[in-house]
Amino acid sequence: KEIATVGKLYAEKVLVATEQPKYPAKPALLDKISLFQGDITKLEVDSIVNAANRSLLGGGGVDGAIHAAAGRDLLKECRTLGGAQTGESKITKAYRLPSKHIIHTVGPIYSSSDVETKEEQLRSCYRSSLQLAIQNSLKHIAFCSVSTGIYGYPIGAATHVALDEVRKFCDSEDGEKLDRAVFVVWSDKDKHVYEKLIPEYFPPA
Ligand code: ADP
Repeated sequence: KEIATVGKLYAEKVLVATEQPKYPAKPALLDKISLFQGDITKLEVDSIVNAANRSLLGGGGVDGAIHAAAGRDLLKECRTLGGAQTGESKITKAYRLPSKHIIHTVGPIYSSSDVETKEEQLRSCYRSSLQLAIQNSLKHIAFCSVSTGIYGYPIGAATHVALDEVRKFCDSEDGEKLDRAVFVVWSDKDKHVYEKLIPEYFPPA
């Protein structure tokens, strides 16, 4: 499969909001946001975000795909990290991947009994990942849809969290330091959710 470079990641369509936008339009931000459907391990960007577990030693889903593609040296570096708490993120090199770094974030395992805690933990994943990118002078960050696979977080609610945290970050002082945030989706269903919600957080005009 072809490697997708940053230049190719501009959204192809103009997305139109069906609900009242949650933030004011800021046209400059539209050039900073991409939606990409496909394999996150094929992206040639400064950083990709892995949906890891607390061991940080690999697992199923996107975590397994990233470790398989990056090679054993990734696992070696991960062993030195001492795991991470839910909501926390740690950074490694990307080894055999075309991207430069991997930000490993630990999403919450969803349960409908403590929705507020789960949401705050998921928000923390996005915030801590963005912080790490900036601390390491990385200009791009590509997020997979953290927690929405094996960890069971509903895709609609998780997408609101992802878009809200990235929009807040873009509006913050550090926002200027980031050139591009890419939302990476795997399934058609998830793509449709992002297409519907992106214009609520990044209105076209
Ligand atoms: P979690 O355990 O945090 O739920 P998963 O890996 O099960 O993590 O799923 C997170 C998201 O990543 C899901 O939307 C899943 O479809 C998606 N995904 C799985 N493999 C890949 C991949 N190679 N590239 C991008 N996204 C992927």
